[in-house]
Amino acid sequence: MTDRIEAPLAIVDPPEGYPTAWVQDAVMSDGETIRVRPIAPGDRDALQQMVRGLSRQSTYNRFFRVKRDLEPEELDRFTRIDYHSHMAFVAVRDGSLIAVGRYNTTPDDPTTAEAAFAVADEHQQKGLGTLLLYRLTAYARTCGIEHFRSYLLADNHVMMRVFRASGYGVKRQEEEGIFTITFPTEETEETTAVRDEWEKRAAAKSMLPLMAPQSVAVIGASRDPETIGGRLFSNLVGGNFSGPVYPVNPKSPVVRSVAAYPSILEVPGNVDLAFIVVPSRFVIPTVAQCIEKGVKALVVISAGFSEIGGVGVELEAELVEMVRSAGIRMVGPNCMGLLNTDPAVSLDGQFGPLMPARGNVAFSSQSGALALAILDSVARHNIGISTFVSVGNLADVSGDDLLLYWEDDPATDVILLYMESFGNPRRFARLARRIARKKPIVAVKSGRTKSGARAASSHTGSLASLDVAVDALFQQTGVIRVDTLEELFDVTNLLSNEPIPQGRRVGIVTNAGGPAILAVDALESRGLEVPVLSDELQAELRAKLPPEAAIRNPVDMIAAAGAKEYGEILEAMLAADELDAVIAIHIPASAIDVVEIQDTIRSVGEAHEGDKTFLAVFMQSGRISDDAPNVVSSVPEFAFPERAARALYDAVRYGEWLRRPEGEIPIFDDIDRDAARAALERALPGLDDDGGWIDPDTVHVILESYGLRVPASGVVATEDEAVARAGAIGQPVVLKVVSPSALHKSDVGGVVLDVEGEGPIRAAYRQVTASVPDPEGVLIQEFVPGGHEVLIGMVEDPNFGPLIVFGLGGIFVELIGDVAFRISPLTDLDADDMIQSVKSARLLEGYRGAEPGDVDAVKDALLRVSAMIEDLPEVVEMDLNPVKVGTPGAGVRVVDARIKAKASTGVVSLSRSDFPTAL
Ligand code: ADP
Ligand code: MG
Repeated sequence: MTDRIEAPLAIVDPPEGYPTAWVQDAVMSDGETIRVRPIAPGDRDALQQMVRGLSRQSTYNRFFRVKRDLEPEELDRFTRIDYHSHMAFVAVRDGSLIAVGRYNTTPDDPTTAEAAFAVADEHQQKGLGTLLLYRLTAYARTCGIEHFRSYLLADNHVMMRVFRASGYGVKRQEEEGIFTITFPTEETEETTAVRDEWEKRAAAKSMLPLMAPQSVAVIGASRDPETIGGRLFSNLVGGNFSGPVYPVNPKSPVVRSVAAYPSILEVPGNVDLAFIVVPSRFVIPTVAQCIEKGVKALVVISAGFSEIGGVGVELEAELVEMVRSAGIRMVGPNCMGLLNTDPAVSLDGQFGPLMPARGNVAFSSQSGALALAILDSVARHNIGISTFVSVGNLADVSGDDLLLYWEDDPATDVILLYMESFGNPRRFARLARRIARKKPIVAVKSGRTKSGARAASSHTGSLASLDVAVDALFQQTGVIRVDTLEELFDVTNLLSNEPIPQGRRVGIVTNAGGPAILAVDALESRGLEVPVLSDELQAELRAKLPPEAAIRNPVDMIAAAGAKEYGEILEAMLAADELDAVIAIHIPASAIDVVEIQDTIRSVGEAHEGDKTFLAVFMQSGRISDDAPNVVSSVPEFAFPERAARALYDAVRYGEWLRRPEGEIPIFDDIDRDAARAALERALPGLDDDGGWIDPDTVHVILESYGLRVPASGVVATEDEAVARAGAIGQPVVLKVVSPSALHKSDVGGVVLDVEGEGPIRAAYRQVTASVPDPEGVLIQEFVPGGHEVLIGMVEDPNFGPLIVFGLGGIFVELIGDVAFRISPLTDLDADDMIQSVKSARLLEGYRGAEPGDVDAVKDALLRVSAMIEDLPEVVEMDLNPVKVGTPGAGVRVVDARIKAKASTGVVSLSRSDFPTAL
């Protein structure tokens, strides 16, 4: 028996061309995690070991013959690859290779690759074949490989199922017991759907031992009820957790009347979930013991990791490698714990004071302290919790994993997120867009204030701030962003108790004029409507109210109104088709009827059926008291009309997003990608390592390849050439200095417009070259008269990936700041939305006699820019300012364009990639 060979999780000394960005962790369909990474020469022995371990059947399936060993030259061929024409991914679990998927192309057909897969017998049926197939096709697409071919023995049903269920357009052909499978590597709606479903199921499954464990241990359970370990243990026991809770404490045999164990290894039964509350230096050895014990998931409460920097960062990295290689999930470190109020589980695994009431709101928080405060006051806002997770440093389990778990969780109707950062914004965007269609996601993202740190070398750069990116992300994905905790409670209260509003029409019932006026103001200033009620409804109300009452809307029943009037009027308003939401306002006229009136309003609210949204405003709190232990009613109650109006507005906007059709990312068939790429690659070597602005001629080629029209132009180096070029282009022309130092050429006199004739051209040439110390040439360009000017720009955010900006163009864009940002890629609806959300873009529609512009062409240009950015990850910043907009049908022309590019390091930057199935 030879020694066990360890396949490393990370490649320490990667070979040339090793695509590091493709090292990713993933979840198998049984919920265990694995590392998926490109193969490396150091995997030679581990590969041999894996092949030796395969059953006869599995080797036969892979190699079409019984094979015990790979030949040395085969091992070389499989592990020393060029990561382009020949590629292989391996799955690593606990120091072993458990699956390999590879492809290679032949020189005579570089667009078709032959693919083969092998999965260790004990890990078959866990989706590894599928996972590797998706990873390989995604990689192959970046290498220009359009088709995969694979050979399968007729009885290799498992792999056949993998191919057929993948969503790829698989064709198969049989000859003498061998199937030839071929399919295009292109993404389709089916492949995306299959992959998304797969990802969701695997992630949700991996969350189960955290959310619904059968047994738990507290390592660091303390006898002292004042310590965190003591409180956590008491909460678990006091919360009546449905399974056993094992205290682990090396110093004391009993913790709070329960027999304790000196180490987790000594615990007699299985442990699904271990809470770790020991000093940070003991965490690693403790986790090692948990892994040995077979614990399925961890919550690491202990602090002292990446949040303290330095050694803490290293310690956390070590911790993550440990749990990843063991294939288990971990919440934290540096967190407050988690809880699940489902009576079948009843897990109070946090050290705060009290378990909140059960309800339909799931909550995840990146700040433990804030989470305590929020949990403490949810009940007072009629909010109950389904599950709560304090995510801490997000070392393993992230907000994305939780979203995937909550997506189909029947106990959860509203998802609440407090976030300080995003792991992978692209992935968050993809998941949120889908999940927000099923249940509302409410997010408080801290950090509203402008970061301002970005170097401003373009209009776009100076307009972008981190906050703009967050807003764009939430806007595009339907996430309801709130600014304050008060707003968070209010909107969650509304969404978790009432139907989503179907429109903007609001009816108001009150017993006093003042608060109703406040409500109307607050609603109308946000664009909600308080329409005059129909004659029929007014007649119906009139019959039930004294003649002094106002019945047009707001319905002011005056101070004498009692419980009976509230009941009857509210029922009538809730039954009417002409309203989408009804707000009942009560301000006590005397103390006598308060409870009765409030109870009536509540019971009408609870009993109402249909899709109308009901809100109550009790201006003197009845049961909204500070010591309310439980959710008081299923009617959202507010202490002030303005707060009700704002919550309603948030809900209305969410409803509108829901009703809006899903946009599509258009596919252009007139784009010449190869020409653009070739031009860009010729320009890249001339740029600095950290990027630079590319020359105007290359910019010209790239834009035209993407169907973005530019005026005829060329760069010249002498006056004579300038005259000749102007003759070729056709006059009048424009002369612009080409210079690395002139960011805005016209500011320094580097642009002369509308020039005609040899003398003026020579004079303009001299003027523009004298305008800067370092002229590199002069751009001669066709003069494009008239039209509106817009800005289309792009800047790469290190966290969010490419952001696209749109606004009315010219040199004042920063000053006016009337621009819209969106995250790339844009759907057709995003493009519409962008144009509409810029107020001054109204001018393009011919506002007040202005000449109308070609809005369709502007939209088309935005979408082409988005396509370009997706194809060319080297592009990091871009200013098309201005884009001249002709009259409808006349199209647009980009008269000034700057593109900043940076040679890619051969890896896909994280901000541009999003592998479903990856963690
Ligand atoms: P910069 O932005 O560096 O100052 P531009 O190339 O954008 O230089 O030129 C400044 C302004 O001149 C533009 O905003 C536009 O109004 C006008 N302009 C530039 N090129 C043309 C052109 N080819 N046809 C008509 N007007 C132009
Ligand atoms: Mg300009």
